Amino acid sequence: MNPKDLWLAIIKDLEKDIKRANVITWFRNTAVLSVDKGVMTIGLPLPVFLNWHTQNYADITLKFAKSHNPEIKQVAYDVDITLSDADPRVIDLLQYFPEKESRKLPKKAEVKLKGGVVSKMLNPRYSLDNFVIAPENRLAHAASMAVSKDPGENYNPLFIYGGVGLGKTHLLQSIGREILRNDPSKVVVYTTTEEFTNELIEGIQSRNMNRFRNKYRKVDTFIIDDIQFIANKNRTEEEFFHTFNSLYEAGKQLVISSDRPPHELTLLSGRLSSRFESGMTVDVKMPDYESRLVILKNKCQEAQVFINEQVLEFIAFNIDTSVRALIGVLNQVIAQYELEHTAPTVKSTSEIIKRSKKEVKMIGFIKDDPTPHRAVTLDQLTDYVSEYYTIPKSEVLGESRTRECLLPRQIIMYLAKTRLGFSLAKIGQALGNRNHTTVMHAISKMQTMLRNDRQLLCDTNAIIKEAGIH
Ligand code: ADP
Ligand code: MG
Repeated sequence: MNPKDLWLAIIKDLEKDIKRANVITWFRNTAVLSVDKGVMTIGLPLPVFLNWHTQNYADITLKFAKSHNPEIKQVAYDVDITLSDADPRVIDLLQYFPEKESRKLPKKAEVKLKGGVVSKMLNPRYSLDNFVIAPENRLAHAASMAVSKDPGENYNPLFIYGGVGLGKTHLLQSIGREILRNDPSKVVVYTTTEEFTNELIEGIQSRNMNRFRNKYRKVDTFIIDDIQFIANKNRTEEEFFHTFNSLYEAGKQLVISSDRPPHELTLLSGRLSSRFESGMTVDVKMPDYESRLVILKNKCQEAQVFINEQVLEFIAFNIDTSVRALIGVLNQVIAQYELEHTAPTVKSTSEIIKRSKKEVKMIGFIKDDPTPHRAVTLDQLTDYVSEYYTIPKSEVLGESRTRECLLPRQIIMYLAKTRLGFSLAKIGQALGNRNHTTVMHAISKMQTMLRNDRQLLCDTNAIIKEAGIH
């Protein structure tokens, strides 16, 4: 086997264990320079590759090399900055590992269960095993374990509360998955308060409340996320109370999350809140420094990247607001690393942290009650947003409920209200004759999403600038 074929065979083997993106990054412009007296010498195009290869890939490279040529006993590395695409010794990796078709958004984020019950998909990324236990969330984790083992038995309802990005959704989804793993015949519904409200409104509008009520009778475990959004929606509160009671009386497990403890929710003048308190109430807070470091290390392992310990310590030390922010910074560090091929340092990381803190502050930039900019019409706003998302205006105004159409529509509604000061009725009318409650929900959904989704925040800010309505 000539060196080039040998190297291709080895890389093909490696690709089964290493993510494609890493193969492209770290094996591009590399080559087997020689195989001599049992030593296979690999040429690397840049010095920074050296550390990376010796630390991460040397062992498996040797393993696969041996499988193709048993005489090889050792791998050695040599930096050769002349290695490039044009070099005949180099393999065109993109030809052998073409980019997979870009991932489409999943068509369905929901599953239909028995009797027309709908649950949102449970994300396999979330499990009780990969939740890092810290003193600040130990009790919440333990209660989640207990509930997953014996749903409906001990802690019912289980109420988990805490600020944004501290692991509530992670725990709730893990509970659902664990219950299903133990007994796949169980009907487990995980939903958000928003989804529940939408469904309820549909029920009311189609005068089909009985169907709505009946279907929840078949549920064994009902998990509802972010119940704080139910506040001040009286009809939803009443209906939820009803659903809650019938499930509770039938001994079904209920799991609820919220950004604050039950007594601060004062739902239905306390009637619903006191129901929540009748089971087990636990909180999640920001994990301590050591646990934050463990979270970061686990994430690096998951992503198969090696990041200097000092850098991880620096992130863990500086990000103390939410786990989501912690992981967000790490992801940016990794992204920069992969793009620029330079190992992250404390200095480069501090730049990223500074930037991300600024972006968080940008939330203040989207004010909810600015002076209205009536100079821009609803029609023009619709044009700006459709163009921004390169989606036909007719689609935005139409009936489709795919994410591609829904999101631009929600942005228009949100900006029409908060920036242009139009009434809900007027906005609904202009956007394909929609009901004012639909508009209201779209706006409150946007407000939630803007708090959690940095990309959306950037997009929305860009649209605001483009339309000249800041
Ligand atoms: P919340 O629902 O409280 O806003 P999430 O559950 O969405 O927060 O958590 C935000 C991110 O942080 C998720 O990616 C989640 O997996 C991660 N996360 C939060 N807490 C932990 C933890 N203790 N261990 C591991 N990952 C965590
Ligand atoms: Mg959540």
